[in-house]
Amino acid sequence: MRVLIVEDDAPLAEVLRRGLTEDGYATDVVGKLSDAQHAVTVNDYDLLVLDRGLPDGDGRTLCADMRAASDFTPVLMLTARDGLGDKVEGLDAGADDYLTKPFDYPELTARIRALLRRPAEAQSPILSHGSLEMDPASRRVSRSSITIPLTAREFALLEVLLRAPDATHHRTDLLERVWDANYDGLSNVVDVHIANLRRKLELPGLGDPIETVRGVGYRLAPLEDA
Ligand code: CA
Repeated sequence: MRVLIVEDDAPLAEVLRRGLTEDGYATDVVGKLSDAQHAVTVNDYDLLVLDRGLPDGDGRTLCADMRAASDFTPVLMLTARDGLGDKVEGLDAGADDYLTKPFDYPELTARIRALLRRPAEAQSPILSHGSLEMDPASRRVSRSSITIPLTAREFALLEVLLRAPDATHHRTDLLERVWDANYDGLSNVVDVHIANLRRKLELPGLGDPIETVRGVGYRLAPLEDA
């Protein structure tokens, strides 16, 4: 799950970035409307946290532009103002939810989870592949009904695979969706986390659910053990 944080208040942006990263989201941060407009055209986000009061314009403009272009990425709008008029304006521009500053971080994450859950619930609340099951709402993963504890990153990686079960996922794509655009740590971080995932998911008598596509990346392996 990749989140774009659009916030010009640098200390607040950093709190959001750190918190969301710890919660297992890949995050990009921009402080200007123009940078946000660019980011949403080149990257594929699962959610935007969008401040209204930006140095070069109103965050509302971006939201309205995205909706006009049939981009329905969930938007959680932030504002320092709390008048009912501002709230109505934000929702009219196509925001999915609205949070007035100052806010508590737990409230922000609860609202983000609710927004990310909506499309998933509309399709199917449980993601599954063979005997492997993931409940994104409760963040629980199991295989043949045995619960498997995963780290936030492992969970995020597996979620990307399960949401596009027929796709081959390039390492770079996985890196961008689960870490972020500016990740500059270990180059083999995806492989390391996939190896850890396999170790946890490969229960005795059950096959490896992840297939390596040589020179490209990973995809789900066919499983007959449902
Ligand atoms: Ca601001």
